[in-house]
Amino acid sequence: MDGSDFNFSDLIDDFLKTKNNSPKIGVYWPSEIGACIRQSYYKRFLPHEMPKEKLRMFKSADLVHGFIREVLSSSNKVKLLSWEKPFSIICDDFEISGRLDDVIIAEIAGREELIVIEVKSISGKSVAHISAPKIDHVYQVHPYLRATRYEGRSASIAVIWYIARDTYADRFFTVFYDQRVMDAAIARVKTLHGHLIKHTLPPAEAKNFPHESWRCWFCPFERECRADYNPEMK
Ligand code: SF4
Repeated sequence: MDGSDFNFSDLIDDFLKTKNNSPKIGVYWPSEIGACIRQSYYKRFLPHEMPKEKLRMFKSADLVHGFIREVLSSSNKVKLLSWEKPFSIICDDFEISGRLDDVIIAEIAGREELIVIEVKSISGKSVAHISAPKIDHVYQVHPYLRATRYEGRSASIAVIWYIARDTYADRFFTVFYDQRVMDAAIARVKTLHGHLIKHTLPPAEAKNFPHESWRCWFCPFERECRADYNPEMK
């Protein structure tokens, strides 16, 4: 054996591959609410493999989440109530479902508050360039806030906590529940669901807005989108 007979890197890719779930029509994840609607549409019709690099990145993000969970559970300044808790919000004929990262109780200005924690790991060494939470993340935490209840209390505060993967430098933002944001989030999902059940291709949302076009750089459906291709229904 000279070291090239066995590829140890494949062990990692094989392990991560089994964790990939395809999204369904009628069930939508909070993390996709802010994404390009056409991309979310394609994801439900066109089988695509998540690139290995992306799966590894997700795993690395999980490890950061695990670290923050350890921090929360060992602190005597906050009480960790739950983590990875599944939830579902039914709206008409579709549902928004997912898992909340962590729910804690912390005393803020003399009041015990129920707080949803959403950890976002980012590439690189610094978080200094992040001046506000990403709109996708603001949308994402709203269903979490809506779904979180504890001993008759509901949560109205979320913390979006950015952690740099290379250094664990961090920056957090507090987001308050805003019914207008929740309504806008549901409206976006409704639009996507409507296109899916009627099988009409949504507009190329990200491409149409210059400040959103960065999404197209990472889109696995760029070729189909450019051709305005509407996949066959199965
Ligand atoms: S290429 Fe851009 S506009 Fe088209 S589906 Fe992908 S993200 Fe959306």
